[in-house]
Amino acid sequence: MSRRYRVRDGIIIRRNALPNGDIVATILGEKGKWHGIARKGKIPGGNLGRLSLFHDVTIQYYRRGEEALALITQVQLNGALSRLSQPDVYPYAHILAELADALSVEVEPGGQIYDYLASGLRGLNQHRDTELVALAYAWKLTAQAGLAPQVATCTHCKTTSQLAFFDIAGGGLGCQQCRVGLPLLERQAAEVQQLVRGSVRTTLDMRLPDRALHWRILHRYLAYHVRPLKSLINLSSLTETYKGEASRV
Ligand SMILES: [Zn+2]
Repeated sequence: MSRRYRVRDGIIIRRNALPNGDIVATILGEKGKWHGIARKGKIPGGNLGRLSLFHDVTIQYYRRGEEALALITQVQLNGALSRLSQPDVYPYAHILAELADALSVEVEPGGQIYDYLASGLRGLNQHRDTELVALAYAWKLTAQAGLAPQVATCTHCKTTSQLAFFDIAGGGLGCQQCRVGLPLLERQAAEVQQLVRGSVRTTLDMRLPDRALHWRILHRYLAYHVRPLKSLINLSSLTETYKGEASRV
């Protein structure tokens, strides 16, 4: 049987090195998420370093029969965002990539999630406030997957006033009368609304003073409605108190 080569573009969102030196990569592109394996020493003129996390690549591959893993035969690097490998930026890029991985299904077109991941990674590469970029895009990615929390009204009684709780299991903000969930200042509830529903541009103008709180809400919400993200648990900006709370989610 002759080999039928195909070509696809995408961003490397997960990369596992096997003990024998082969690399298994998960790639998210406009047509969805897929997995490929690159055999050590088998990429002509290529370099397995091109299959690094967050790289934007064009990959040539083929499949044998119904095997789930495509065999990668060529990798062309279209772009590497150099700042993403810096120790203070890498954890945020990892959060966005792991979240995009969790939100994108295997076969369905992943176009919107891919677009927001690409845009978020570019934002991390350029913007001064990388922590704010990461929080903003994490919520945008979640919303693109149709999993945004309800923040316009109280999750329980539908009032739009005096929103001052975040009910993780209920899936959104709560009011002073219903009193369900994590208590917030009204300002903090308004910040949650902006993060979830505001445009990226206006969100990146925020000061957002209580960032540990916002990471806590994001982490708990995703752990309940998507899955716990290792990258969020590992985030060094989270306090010990936060980690204790996260482990009880
Ligand atoms: Zn209410």
